[in-house]
Amino acid sequence: MRRTESYLLPSSSPGTRRELLVHRYGLPGGKKAVIQASLHADELPGILVAQHLGALLEPAELLGEVVLVPYANPIGLSQVQGGNILGRYDNNSQENFNRRFVDFIPALKERLPGRLGADAIVNVRRMREEMIKILEEKAPIGELESLRWWLLRLSVDADIVLDLHCDFAAVLHMYCGTPLGWEGSDLAAELGVLANLVAEESGGNPFDEALGAPWWAIARHFPTFPVPPACFSATIELRGEADVSDSLAEQDAAAIFRFLQRRGLIAGDPGPLPSLRCEPSPLEGVQMLRSPATGLLTWKLPLGAQVRAGEVVAELVDPTATPGQPRLSLRADLAGLLFGRVRQQMVRPGQIVAKIAGTYAFRSGHLLTD
Ligand SMILES: [Zn+2]
Repeated sequence: MRRTESYLLPSSSPGTRRELLVHRYGLPGGKKAVIQASLHADELPGILVAQHLGALLEPAELLGEVVLVPYANPIGLSQVQGGNILGRYDNNSQENFNRRFVDFIPALKERLPGRLGADAIVNVRRMREEMIKILEEKAPIGELESLRWWLLRLSVDADIVLDLHCDFAAVLHMYCGTPLGWEGSDLAAELGVLANLVAEESGGNPFDEALGAPWWAIARHFPTFPVPPACFSATIELRGEADVSDSLAEQDAAAIFRFLQRRGLIAGDPGPLPSLRCEPSPLEGVQMLRSPATGLLTWKLPLGAQVRAGEVVAELVDPTATPGQPRLSLRADLAGLLFGRVRQQMVRPGQIVAKIAGTYAFRSGHLLTD
């Protein structure tokens, strides 16, 4: 059974109004999963995966509730310049759409004393009640705040939240909280991710962390009461911007469907779990390879390559140099998986051009690219 709802966002300019569409499968009261597509509106693979997933959910026997947000960012989708969607930053505020979600943690620390007890299930229920109240007490102003508010309101009481993104050019990978890294092995194995990057706090309060992090922050703040990580919240990077095809989307949607079967939200046998292709590795261990100068990059290694420390990942061609002059080599500092890189190969000094997932944490602070 499907119910489709739409939520109107407040108008930002006379004569315009955008809406968020939501498909609900199954019934509330049991386990709940939310899957949302393309919060960064120019990252389109998720929109196609949502269509394929919806088609699988339509005839399925639901044991819980699955909420599908088929396009999570109508504001970003409308930001088109010369035929290109510019969907990562809000044009008006210049804010990254996937930052500055509500930080529940300070208010929860104030409200939960006296409400937690010895029963973990009761604690989960009480904490969710408080998180809903925290949201309901806020009155979002304007379109962007309202969009973020609605996305949280739909997900705040969910057991599973999957935020579908992609990178510029990348192999399939995912991000989640460190306490969820191994727990997410079933999802990682089903999808066949090649990197599962974990951090307790990556900075800027992105959507997945706004929902996942309160659980371990509160567990740590009230150590005498059992508070499990009750929201499995992950960002899935569905390869690169150009990887929009029915064959990939069908494969990814089927993997998410089997994951939801395995987690008890959908009836039916998901079959044997494929083998895991990677273990969780620290987001603090990702090397962001930067270009030291401007020029045109030529890749020396393919995406998905296991890079050795010191190995040449790319060369930088200086178009102003005499043809045939030696090129600058961009080398990896550390060994790891080359999982992401830029698409536009004419780069500027200091620009991040490739990402390599290593095994050991070596950096801190803001861990995501902005
Ligand atoms: Zn994104």
